[in-house]
Amino acid sequence: MEPDGRCHSQQSGRPAGPRRRAPAAGPAGRWQTWSVPDPEDADISPPGAAAGAAAEAAAVTAFWQQLGLPGLVDVHTHFMPPNVLAKVWAFFENGHAVAGQPWPIAYRQPEEDRLALLRAFGVRRFSALLYPHKPDMAAWLNSWAADFAARTPDALHSATFFAEPGAAAYVAEAIAGGARLFKAHVQVGGYDPGDEMLDAVWGLLAEARVPVVVHCGSGPTPGPHTGPGPISAVLARHPALIAIIAHLGAPEYGDFLDLAERYPGVHLDTTMAFTGFLERLAPFPARLRPRLAAAADRILLGSDFPNIPYPYLHQLQALAGLGLGQDWLRAVCYGNAVRLLRL
Ligand SMILES: [Zn+2]
Repeated sequence: MEPDGRCHSQQSGRPAGPRRRAPAAGPAGRWQTWSVPDPEDADISPPGAAAGAAAEAAAVTAFWQQLGLPGLVDVHTHFMPPNVLAKVWAFFENGHAVAGQPWPIAYRQPEEDRLALLRAFGVRRFSALLYPHKPDMAAWLNSWAADFAARTPDALHSATFFAEPGAAAYVAEAIAGGARLFKAHVQVGGYDPGDEMLDAVWGLLAEARVPVVVHCGSGPTPGPHTGPGPISAVLARHPALIAIIAHLGAPEYGDFLDLAERYPGVHLDTTMAFTGFLERLAPFPARLRPRLAAAADRILLGSDFPNIPYPYLHQLQALAGLGLGQDWLRAVCYGNAVRLLRL
């Protein structure tokens, strides 16, 4: 079913819109120092395109090879029905995500090209996170995601839900159908994760030991139910829930590290954390860095590919720049996900 009568017969081609480039470096300016070509060049000048994509792939590959890893696992990437993704891109590029903050999409490419790029990077498994912003949409997204997983063997079968009657039924159906990772977007959905309509959903996920990526930090823009409080109430009721807090909980990093220290199932993904872009919006406090080292087994690589305003490599370099050592990077970029998702 198409929620708006607008979600069918779309192709995975490039949405209409102005061509954007990665932004000039802002105050932090970190990514400008890297010799990674702008991936947007890829399809405007074919020879440079191939060279640009190949150069970035080589640099990402060198990153994991130097760690002795067989590749990367990225738990926070987005694949969505083409028209939904086009709306998400328009939302970011029109400046709605963060007031006054340009957010050009670095990988505004057809789905097949985005898949090819992740594979060229050596991302062995990746998620296909999607999320509804209103009722009567999640079940349809889940059916698209099941189809995507069936035709994309290296994608983790992902699913989602909304606070609505029937959520427990379609979540149970998705789990039975093989979903291995869920996404809950508290900010975009605008629902209280403690809503009683979701109580059975959290219970099902906890019982099935299926992780759920939860965007519940107040970044980049707070919502009525973001912040550590509402999800803490859920965890108090479902202490075995395997929750992966998106964006390392930005900007409430310390509060979400508290939760990871209190509950064995609470993990954090690195999505956008420590990048020049997020450091300008929500800098990670240096005093918390030792707690990142202590939480080495709870932190998972996430990137937000393709919806990022900088090259993929920047996320990896930002993690390496923390100086937490190669064992930490190996756990974060591969080992923890393999263990948690039983890959
Ligand atoms: Zn995301």
